[in-house]
Amino acid sequence: MIVHLDADAFFVSVEQAADRRLRGKAVAVGGQRRGIIASASYEARALGVYTPMPTSRALRLCPHLILIPGDYRKYELFSRLMFSFANDYTAEVEHASIDEGYFDLGRQTKFTAAEAAAKIRDAIAGSLKISASFGIASNKLVSQVASKLKKPGGFVEVPRGEERAFLAPLANHWLPGIGKKAAEGLDAAGLRTVAQIAQASPEFLARHVGSYAPQLILFAQGLDDRPVVSEHGDATSYSEQETFGTDVTDEEFVLATARAMADRLMTKVRADGKTIRTVTVKLRYRDFTEASRSASLDEPTDLETETYSSLERLVKKGWTKRLGLRLVSVRFSQVYSGLFSAELALDSAHNTPQAQRELAHAIDALRSKFGKGSVMRGHDLWLKTREGEQ
Ligand SMILES: [Mg+2]
Repeated sequence: MIVHLDADAFFVSVEQAADRRLRGKAVAVGGQRRGIIASASYEARALGVYTPMPTSRALRLCPHLILIPGDYRKYELFSRLMFSFANDYTAEVEHASIDEGYFDLGRQTKFTAAEAAAKIRDAIAGSLKISASFGIASNKLVSQVASKLKKPGGFVEVPRGEERAFLAPLANHWLPGIGKKAAEGLDAAGLRTVAQIAQASPEFLARHVGSYAPQLILFAQGLDDRPVVSEHGDATSYSEQETFGTDVTDEEFVLATARAMADRLMTKVRADGKTIRTVTVKLRYRDFTEASRSASLDEPTDLETETYSSLERLVKKGWTKRLGLRLVSVRFSQVYSGLFSAELALDSAHNTPQAQRELAHAIDALRSKFGKGSVMRGHDLWLKTREGEQ
């Protein structure tokens, strides 16, 4: 059996755990640079505050809202502690994001999955003073839906064999990959519920979701064979590396290569609806020694442009030996789900992150339609020109 854990109003819960004066009050985290709410307490939600919402609107709705700037290092610490309680029962723990994860409890035999999940829940509540919702089922998809169905403090177990019946009455947006737009299209086509999608013909469904149709039907039938993938030490990350055929001594070239890698990685980050906070650059010298440098951004991001200056600093900091390089890698870690990601409506028209965000999405769309070379940033052009000269 697989357990999905999803912390309730995670950032705000951590703040409330750390400061008792905030408990039971309308509290929100966010409102800094991007001017949006990243997390709202259930007390604030009762007054109409939700995420993501522009801070100005939240304050109009709820003038007494206590607004706290995000302390992402603190959330990452709580996240590690939260997952460590699951590690008491199984080594098979997959961190899907800072506050969500899957545990495979099938291999431990001391407790039933539900018993182990209840112990993990109580340990988290007792030690960290935050609440999380749990879904227990025979596969990832069903456990994830189950954990989100009765938040906060949800604890839903779906017995083996009842996966399809459990999902059947739910609205289509509960299935993975069905965002607001896709849900509207499916609604209009008469496919409002998961049961209707489970019975749809792949050809008909493909008109709305393209090549995802066969997989979506399997999900709708409650079928999912994705394994829990545990990564040791750190949560899921995005990384890419490039090996050079000859020693590279040109810093400009290394920087352009690193930026191009960041661009490709961020396209994946955006496609997954995630954001990342930590950037790591690894350099391998021609004598095969390595240097690795990391930096964390103030806030999670899904924009490559917000990583460029860190990449430059990390390459300069890491490249201390006067030796040519054979390999460069870029890695994005500390993955957050959804937060500060693409579809946020922002207030100010001249907001630079928003303009960058629209640009990044336009570039993603052009590249997926017309090929990777259809749009080039400065460093892409630079790399291409250099290729031509050699
Ligand atoms: Mg959560």
